[in-house]
Amino acid sequence: MSGQAVSYEELAPLVSNGWSRFATLLAQGGRGAAPGRDGRYVNVPLARGSTVLFPTLEAMRDNGRGAYDHQSIYGAMGSPVQHELEGLVAAVEGGAHTQIVSSGLAACTTPLLAFLGAGDHLLLPDSVYGPTRRFADTMLARFGVNTTYYPPCADETAIRSLIRPETKVVFTESPGSHTFEVQDIPMLARAAHEAGALLMLDNTWGISVFQPFEHGVDISIQALTKYPGGHSDIILGAATVADEALWRRLRDSAIQLGQLGGPEDCWLTLRGLRTMGVRLQAQACAALRVALWLRERPEVARVFHPALPDCPGHMLWRRDFSGASALFGVELSADFSVSAMEAMIDSLDMFGIGASWGGYESLVLPSTGGIRRTLPQTPSGPAFRLQIGLEAPDDLISDLEQGLSVLRTVAA
Ligand SMILES: *Cc1c(COP(=O)(O)O)cnc(C)c1O
Repeated sequence: MSGQAVSYEELAPLVSNGWSRFATLLAQGGRGAAPGRDGRYVNVPLARGSTVLFPTLEAMRDNGRGAYDHQSIYGAMGSPVQHELEGLVAAVEGGAHTQIVSSGLAACTTPLLAFLGAGDHLLLPDSVYGPTRRFADTMLARFGVNTTYYPPCADETAIRSLIRPETKVVFTESPGSHTFEVQDIPMLARAAHEAGALLMLDNTWGISVFQPFEHGVDISIQALTKYPGGHSDIILGAATVADEALWRRLRDSAIQLGQLGGPEDCWLTLRGLRTMGVRLQAQACAALRVALWLRERPEVARVFHPALPDCPGHMLWRRDFSGASALFGVELSADFSVSAMEAMIDSLDMFGIGASWGGYESLVLPSTGGIRRTLPQTPSGPAFRLQIGLEAPDDLISDLEQGLSVLRTVAA
């Protein structure tokens, strides 16, 4: 059911132009010294190792002193290919330094563990990625950290009223998981910083089209598993910091926790980043086409895509983002049951049923309700999430058309 009129021609540049901003960096960065005229391979060699050997004890001590500067005296501090990836992610995010960790979830939990302690207070958006919520509710609670959930569309007054003297971290994820609310990051940064708290952002959806440090974020989190990996074949995460003081604490905590990325996963993520811009340019346009088609369908109540006016925080997206990625939500009319939606999902041919997103292939996942605490349950009709891959958009639309006919048949 369409609301305010929008056209593909108007929105396509807004969702896709920003992806070329980092084209040169993605091709040239993270390849060691200046890409070569000296007989080296194009790519950084994949080196595996635990022990690093030194010619003398003095040389070993020198390297140890540089541990914060990415040097390694032991494999657990990261391999050369991990450090190349860290440099490239830091440049894409626009931050001072990046720490690679074993997964996107570890990229959420490691900074929270690094900067929170017993008696501290944490603000989490009610739309946060489910496993981050579970970590706050169980492990952080056990260590004496209190968490308050805020509505992802809360205004400045509401946010300020939730901040306490012991609030140390305001966490945000924009747009929100499954419901895609775009948050006002500069406002959150202002409120957090005035209270002496840090602002951490899960920027997985917005990689390279949302520049976290230009908007006041202190620590930016990436599930590299998604678009940077890009091929559904690795699990890896990154946390990037704004300055040196944050870096020392994060780096030290990551080493204490034994966090790193395996060399093969780092190498594959570097390979994925080479094509991320062009993949996303195509996927963002395809996702927009599919979203606009769904928006016109009578079975559909709302499409939660930040580029559409129906999406909460759409104007913030226009103000702060230079593009969109290819993951969005769909709410069916409340006339349809969850079981009819499930029959529709089961009937799809091109959309794999599976967790995660960011690969070259399309996926579908129901958006399970009942996880919000501060919001009335939105969406109110049955809802699902689509990740649009590199298939031809017309083929995906035909498949969805077939799926919607199953929905109507089951409901009748
Ligand atoms: C997938 C995801 C994560 C976790 O990433 P993994 O590598 O799967 O652990 C964290 N945040 C968001 C927003 C995600 O979509």
